[in-house]
This record gives sequence, structure tokens and C-alpha cells, in this order.
Amino acid sequence: MPLVGTKEMFKKAYEGGFAIGAFNVNNMEIVQGITEAAGELKSPIILQCSAGARKYAKHEYLVHLVKAALEISDIPIALHLDHGADFETCKSCIDGGFTSVMIDGSHFPFKENIEVTKKVVEYAHAHGVVVEGELGQLAGIEDDVNVSAENASYTQPAEVQEFVEKTGVDSLAIAIGTSHGAFKFKPEQCTRNADGVLVPPELRFDILAEIEKKLPNFPIVLHGASSVVPKYVKIINDNGGKLADAVGIPEDQLRKAARSAVCKINIDSDLRLAMTAGIRQHFAEHPEHFDPRQYITVGRSYIKDVVAHKIKDVLGSDGQADAVMALIKK
Ligand SMILES: [Zn+2]
Repeated sequence: MPLVGTKEMFKKAYEGGFAIGAFNVNNMEIVQGITEAAGELKSPIILQCSAGARKYAKHEYLVHLVKAALEISDIPIALHLDHGADFETCKSCIDGGFTSVMIDGSHFPFKENIEVTKKVVEYAHAHGVVVEGELGQLAGIEDDVNVSAENASYTQPAEVQEFVEKTGVDSLAIAIGTSHGAFKFKPEQCTRNADGVLVPPELRFDILAEIEKKLPNFPIVLHGASSVVPKYVKIINDNGGKLADAVGIPEDQLRKAARSAVCKINIDSDLRLAMTAGIRQHFAEHPEHFDPRQYITVGRSYIKDVVAHKIKDVLGSDGQADAVMALIKK
């Protein structure tokens, strides 16, 4: 099965009140863990690569790893560029086999964001590739994207219609309080529940609702949407790690978002945490091991577990692969 775009996935997700998981891939075992889980659950997925992933693994390796996954699974998979910084980066991914790209002009003033996004859309659409734009800025750090809490800003609902009309983007990433990385909120931004666990401020569903009203039937994207699964943080910390006060977006809020216009939810930190937890636990139990296949196998199975959990309990995309495929073949 060839790589697919995201149009049909998002149409089904919008109508069905679920979201497609966009999982960041950096190496073979991550690709395997994600696609094994999605294959068993018959879920469409987006595999995405950041600039950091392309620097780490090289573009060609990533594309071929994903193509290998396509040969052994029968689910629709889109290959997406996460946070394309400029036209050239997007163009090289479009020319190099990606089926979807993000142009992140969110740090530019509104007009310049429109200009650069429009330029990418024109090139991408001429090559059958879809484009995600972004309005508003998320706080946090992820690979080459680093925004301080002071510089973060919510998406202005008043701007979304003009942005989408003038650029022709196929989906829009918005800022409603999610954040990149494993340390999404400072403890002073949070409250503590009865168990002493940090609870972050609620996402701005009011802004999301306004955007939805201005852009009916238009797919919305949430970045920085890992829940920083406490189970994995605990395993890491119990086995020599130091991740004090790592806090993410509660999964009930992500589930609520998935039921709305949000059609794509980005998950990266939770994969990193799961793999690290598996490897740390393995070494704690088997300090004598030194064969990478022994410990990376555990890391890969933790990736598979966390992706299966996300698909079933957060995204709600399980069992949707055939419906998406049928729509693509139409
Ligand atoms: Zn992002």
C-alpha cells in the first residue's frame, strides 16, 4: 500500500468524533512499535519527522523505514514533516516522498506567516501534498522549536478565517494551552490533587469552540499534546532517572478535543518516555546485558503499548483504517 495523504483521514475523523495520532519517528524501533500497535488495532496513523529527526537519522532512512512498515502492514499511513521551518525544508520533503508537510510560520507576524504558508501550499498542492499551517504559539521545547512561556500566545479566533482563505492550507495547528516537551508547565502554574500530583491548567476549549464556529468542517491540529504518562515517568525515576515535576496534558482533555474539530493530535514526548522507561527498567533488572537487541526490544514494546493506549483510550481511531481506505479508493 502506498503512503497516503491526510484528507480522507481528517474527513472521517471530523465526522466520527475521533482524531488521528501523529507520532514522531526517529529510528527503526520507533517506527516498528507504532505501526505494530496501529496495525493490530486497524487504526490510520500519521508518522511525522521533525528537523531533528532528519538530522539524526537522515531523510532517506526515515522514508525507507516508513515504506518498509507499509509493506508489512495494511493500514493507511501518511508521512508528515513536523515543524517545517521554511519553504526549502518543505520543498525537500515534498520532493523526497512525504505526503504532508507543516510550514510553521507561527513566529512570524500574521502577514508574513500568510506569505510563507501560501508559497508552500502552492508548491505542495501542485505535487499532491497537503499542508498544515500554524497560528498562535505554543510554549515549550521540542527539537529546534523553543518558545518561552512569556512569548507563547493563544490563537486568535478572529484571524483563522482570513489565514485559511488566503493560504489555502488543509489543516491548522492552534495554540489553546498545550505545550511542547515533557515539562509542559511550571509547578507554580499547576495545582496539586489529593495525591500530590500536579494538575495543569485546563485547555482553552472556549477558544477551540470559537475557531470551530469560524471554520466549520475544517481539521484542527493539536501540538504538544503528550500526556506525559505518569506510569512511565515513575518507572524512569524508580530506575535511576531524574524527571521531577514532568507534567503533560490530562488524557480526558485530549479525548474531549478529539471529539471536536481536532483531527490530528501530535504525540512525541510520550514515546520518548515510554522507550526510556522500558530501557531503564531492563537495565535495572539485567545489569549484565549489553546486547542492544535485548534492551531495545523492551523499549520498542513499551512504544507499542503506549501507542495502543493512545489509539484506544485517547484518539478513538481504532477500527477506522478500512473506512479511510475505502474513502481514498473512491
Ligand atoms: Zn509541535
